[in-house]
Amino acid sequence: MTRRVSIFGATGSIGQNTIDLIARAPAQYQVVALTGGQNVAQLAADARRLGAQVAVTADPGKLDSLRAALAGSPVQAMAGRAALLEAAAMPADWVMSAIVGAAGLAPGLIALQQGATLALANKESLVTAGPLLMATARQHNARVLPVDSEHSAIFQALVGEDIAQVERIIITASGGAFRDTPMQDLAHVTLAQASSHPNWAMGQRITIDSASMFNKALEVIETKEFFGVSPQQIEVLVHPESMVHALVGFCDGALMAHVGPPDMRHAIGYALHWPQRQPLPVARLDLAAIGQLSFRAPDLARYPALRLAGEVMQAGGLAGAVFNGAKERALDGFIAGHIGFLEMAVLVEKVLSQLAGHPELANATLDLDNVAHADHLARRAVDALIAQRA
Ligand code: NDP
Repeated sequence: MTRRVSIFGATGSIGQNTIDLIARAPAQYQVVALTGGQNVAQLAADARRLGAQVAVTADPGKLDSLRAALAGSPVQAMAGRAALLEAAAMPADWVMSAIVGAAGLAPGLIALQQGATLALANKESLVTAGPLLMATARQHNARVLPVDSEHSAIFQALVGEDIAQVERIIITASGGAFRDTPMQDLAHVTLAQASSHPNWAMGQRITIDSASMFNKALEVIETKEFFGVSPQQIEVLVHPESMVHALVGFCDGALMAHVGPPDMRHAIGYALHWPQRQPLPVARLDLAAIGQLSFRAPDLARYPALRLAGEVMQAGGLAGAVFNGAKERALDGFIAGHIGFLEMAVLVEKVLSQLAGHPELANATLDLDNVAHADHLARRAVDALIAQRA
């Protein structure tokens, strides 16, 4: 039986890895929707190759070029935010959520409302609106499966286990591009340096977030929201080799570790084939050749984002949306060359304290409109802080 699949963020790093797996067994899948942003050439080529029903670019200005690239094919070209949401409502069995940033939340919610299984790479969905996403899944009897490598690892370590017997969850971090850079040099690192990851090939934004550990901060919150554990149960461990992705510690002292090569096709493939396993085209580790794996505690002075994650979880409500919105805007500022690498965390911390207790956010319900409003306020606050220092 063929499965109907849609891929949101198909032109990105996760999207392309997903397509790589699906294209290896085309007879098993019927591709419903592929979505992208700026890269319409890639989007059109994949939509043609996989015989997608629709190809959607999030940018309305790209509709003509998408149409031109699809000329003569039966694939329907669509564009804009409304088209993206329309595509999310098309019936599908399995939907990959791999848009980068808060923009990924609404399509994922709509896919869950249709009862689709949501393979969740877009961690921002859980950071900004975890309780809403998980409640939507429960309400529509739909599944969310983790795709982040750490969360896939935890999920796999929990198969057959009782979450009530989990004492702690340890997620590992490579330490990113600057794990060995002296602290005094961090203020002056360049965009090119921050955009190069020692172990993983990923999109630019998550690569920079790995260097600042904002990515790990998001993942700590993601762990709390997905697995329903308390913040005190979550630990971060620096593991430069990126082979042990996460460990789950049980009440009897046992630690179950998930070990694998740094290749996202493992976690994507696990979510694609769940609850079965199928052979995947990933390298098999030769532990004797690797010889040693190393671990160390993260230095919180080097990585203020980890401390901020703790504060965000403590605050709850819309603090996750503020944190993520501020982080995304500060990252835009770093990419545009307006602020330095270390200023990202300084700005995010300022915005978190400025907006804590904000009358429009405090006690507001966690729904899509309020998440969008919190995100908007956070971005505006970052812009104001950047303008002040200019
Ligand atoms: P990329 O930047 O490589 O790709 C992002 C995708 O989203 C592209 O298809 C892009 O289109 C599209 N896109 C960008 N902005 C918008 C928007 N506003 N609306 C709709 N679509 C948009 O990101 P990654 O693949 O690296 O990451 C995707 C998600 O997966 C992120 O949430 C990330 O944190 C998470 N993740 C990624 C991992 C990785 O290994 N890369 C690992 C674990 C999680 P286009 O490129 O055509 O402009």
